[in-house]
Amino acid sequence: MTARSAIVVGGGIAGSTAALALARAGLRPTVVEMRTGPAQDAGVMLTLATNGIDALRVLDVDGPALAAGFPTPEIVLRSHTGKHLGATPTGVPLADGTVSHTLRRADLNTVLRDEVTARGIPVVTGTVVAVEEHADRVRAVLSDGSSVDADLLVGADGVHSRVRSSMDPPAPGPSYAGLVTTGGFAPDSAVVGPERDGAGTGAYEMVFGRRAFFGSATAPDGVVWWFVNVPLAPEPDRRELREVPTAEWRRRLAALFADDAGAARATIDATADFAPMTPIHTLPHLPRWHTGRCVLVGDAAHAPSPTSGQGASLAAEDAVVLAQCLRSQDDPGDAFALFESVRRPRVERIVRAAARINNSKAAGPVARRVRDLVLPAVLRLSATSSLTQYDHHLEWSDEPGARQPAGRRGSWARVGGR
Ligand SMILES: Cc1cc2nc3c(=O)[nH]c(=O)nc-3n(C[C@H](O)[C@H](O)[C@H](O)COP(=O)(O)OP(=O)(O)OC[C@H]3O[C@@H](n4cnc5c(N)ncnc54)[C@H](O)[C@@H]3O)c2cc1C
Repeated sequence: MTARSAIVVGGGIAGSTAALALARAGLRPTVVEMRTGPAQDAGVMLTLATNGIDALRVLDVDGPALAAGFPTPEIVLRSHTGKHLGATPTGVPLADGTVSHTLRRADLNTVLRDEVTARGIPVVTGTVVAVEEHADRVRAVLSDGSSVDADLLVGADGVHSRVRSSMDPPAPGPSYAGLVTTGGFAPDSAVVGPERDGAGTGAYEMVFGRRAFFGSATAPDGVVWWFVNVPLAPEPDRRELREVPTAEWRRRLAALFADDAGAARATIDATADFAPMTPIHTLPHLPRWHTGRCVLVGDAAHAPSPTSGQGASLAAEDAVVLAQCLRSQDDPGDAFALFESVRRPRVERIVRAAARINNSKAAGPVARRVRDLVLPAVLRLSATSSLTQYDHHLEWSDEPGARQPAGRRGSWARVGGR
């Protein structure tokens, strides 16, 4: 039997990992990506949590990904006065001691795309504008009028997914989280950066400022990587936001952080250029993740708030589980139904948890006081549940019998207890 062909729409984290995983499962993927370089528009950096690293390890791409970043095992939270509110781990160390890492978003995209190309997976540059599903195949129509046909299609085209709206026109779109974000890299090591433990591992320092949220981590070379979340309502127009010059954002950010303790102002001042200011969108619940021949993965299916630090890791987990489902089921629709039943409960739990923290980033004065009082206790209480989220181990066996999952939930997605 010829291997089944698959179109993967989007060459971001979800799309590249899906292509690598599908190829490993014996399918023939083709990636269609609209950009020639990595997307720069949604955040400067991201944390790859240990569960995401675990998923990349299944695909044998964790090495180059980790080499592009640095370890960030913990987040220290402070109030606008500098008061220490608590600390929370960014993941559970893997069996070999590997902890969560922070990478430039563009670097992670580049590493994954390079691996796709190195493994001989074709990548077509183009923008998918429609998906046509037929009884025996599916077609991705590109904006230049060309098309790609395959047995199945994976929509990995991000939170504003075109595949989602084409596949299911009444599907709900993403919601604006009430926050805009930018960030950058402050080269001046004179800036007072987050505390380091002296062993080459960095800690994030995050500050619930009076008017905006500031997070930073110092890389081993002394460069301070930082981001801000600024409450802004109503939802701004994305293009208008981008037209505001850096000098104007510098002035506005200086005013927003003027009354806060900590390094936010100095770090921002020391940064030559900022990433484009971008509205943050989430997609908490999508009623349908798939049709008979099309399935959504990553942010296209479920976009948690960036607060979760889990979007990229969940995308990588999706890729592995989807490939395992396709390997175990001949019919794509059956494989997608199995995929959704395995993945939905986990991702929606994480999306809900992140939404609660997001609300406290945009807190008013009264809510702020309550938050600063209760957060230390909440962090202690939530430590156990958030660690359960991270401790999600995926296994892949190439044994002949491994094709058949033991049960509907499969034997390969095992939570905890490596
Ligand atoms: C500010 C910010 C900070 C974040 N921080 C973290 C973090 O610390 N940790 C974490 O795990 N996650 C974080 N996230 C979330 C994480 O970035 C996303 O969950 C992750 O990038 C999702 O990957 P994706 O591949 O599904 O989507 P995307 O990264 O959006 O990739 C989609 C790809 O599809 C392409 N595409 C789109 N439309 C089309 C089309 N029609 N045709 C062809 N190609 C198309 C795009 O060019 C892009 O390459 C953060 C997000 C933001 C906004």
